[in-house]
Amino acid sequence: MKSSTQRREVIAKEFLNCFGGDPQCWCRAPGRVDLMGSHTDYNLGAVLTLPIGRDTWIAARPNHSRTVNLHSLNLGADASFSLDSTEKNLDQPWIDYVHGVAEELREEGLRLVGFDGVIHSTVPLSSGLSSSAALECAAATVFEVLGGWQLTPLKKALLCQRSENRYVGVNCGILDQFTSCMGEEGCALLLDCRDLTSRPVAIAEGIRIVICDTKSKRELAGSEYGERRADCEEGARLLGASSLREVGFAQFSAREHELPPQVAKRCRFILEEHARVLALAGALSAGDRALIRHLTAASFDGACQLYEIAAPAMHTMMAAMLEAPGVIGARQAGAGFGGCMVAFVEAAQVEAFAAAVRSRYATATGIESEIYPVTAAAGAGMI
Ligand code: ADP
Ligand code: MG
Repeated sequence: MKSSTQRREVIAKEFLNCFGGDPQCWCRAPGRVDLMGSHTDYNLGAVLTLPIGRDTWIAARPNHSRTVNLHSLNLGADASFSLDSTEKNLDQPWIDYVHGVAEELREEGLRLVGFDGVIHSTVPLSSGLSSSAALECAAATVFEVLGGWQLTPLKKALLCQRSENRYVGVNCGILDQFTSCMGEEGCALLLDCRDLTSRPVAIAEGIRIVICDTKSKRELAGSEYGERRADCEEGARLLGASSLREVGFAQFSAREHELPPQVAKRCRFILEEHARVLALAGALSAGDRALIRHLTAASFDGACQLYEIAAPAMHTMMAAMLEAPGVIGARQAGAGFGGCMVAFVEAAQVEAFAAAVRSRYATATGIESEIYPVTAAAGAGMI
């Protein structure tokens, strides 16, 4: 990975190529990995989430017009939109993530300024580490700086989530945007998606979080995510609750047999996963390796048997992670269906772990995976 200085040079050079001159404002927002939870977020449960050092940068300069012109270094693509039009760019759908944010901010009555910008992300796209929220939250921060107003991080997160729900059309929960805006350096966050509060959770000395990217792509806006969400909402409705968060485990167990079997499985996973989030927060701080291993194994088992979000590549990766030196525990990450997974690894053995996983996974699949440790980074802001 390039150093910050090299990254800055690459972006500034591209800005000069695309627009001439230098950018005036630099903003960034991080991706995230869920250590436990993820699908609990739209059920208003808890998630243990980590804002990561991989992030999205936007270098921008106001252009004294009502147009936003963007170049994405990741895609090698240019696109523009007008601040006075809601029309979608069907040729360059990635710009919806920025246009949607502008729409939400405009509806809040905030002054928006047209700008030229270059985007560069070290969050892998469409891999479950939330490059979409990183782009939205970085873009909201550019509008904020250039517009001369300020949002609270929570308000910014909510507007970015709404833009992904309404403009992009992905019915995501608050997890990604909350983490990208509210992240704190050096700790995980225990997020309560019902009351939108969080508390920092320290990761015990000697434990590292390692991303294991299966390099098997997933499509979030695809039907599976929406279907899981619909099953959960159906379950809550049949149990007479406004969300699964309002359903206690005893109440669920007593009435589980009344639910359609698929709905019952989805609900059971969410209720169990919510409890695992709270338990993992304690285990991670205490450095309780046996409990971390048990909870992560149970989470993956639920993802396979109950929530049915495990793609074949994830089974292969899971086996490679569990056989590697230094592993404490491992599970799926993000929405599932491929993409990234997450391992808890002894700090002293991270390199040996990564080498072993890479090699075993490549032997089994012929695919070059990417395995790298991440640490907790600060939320969206100016660079
Ligand atoms: P994830 O959030 O897990 O990475 P999503 O499917 O939610 O996956 O979002 C990925 C999409 O976000 C990309 O397909 C692209 O449209 C957009 N996107 C994210 N980062 C960038 C970027 N740096 N440049 C252009 N588009 C991006
Ligand atoms: Mg996303």
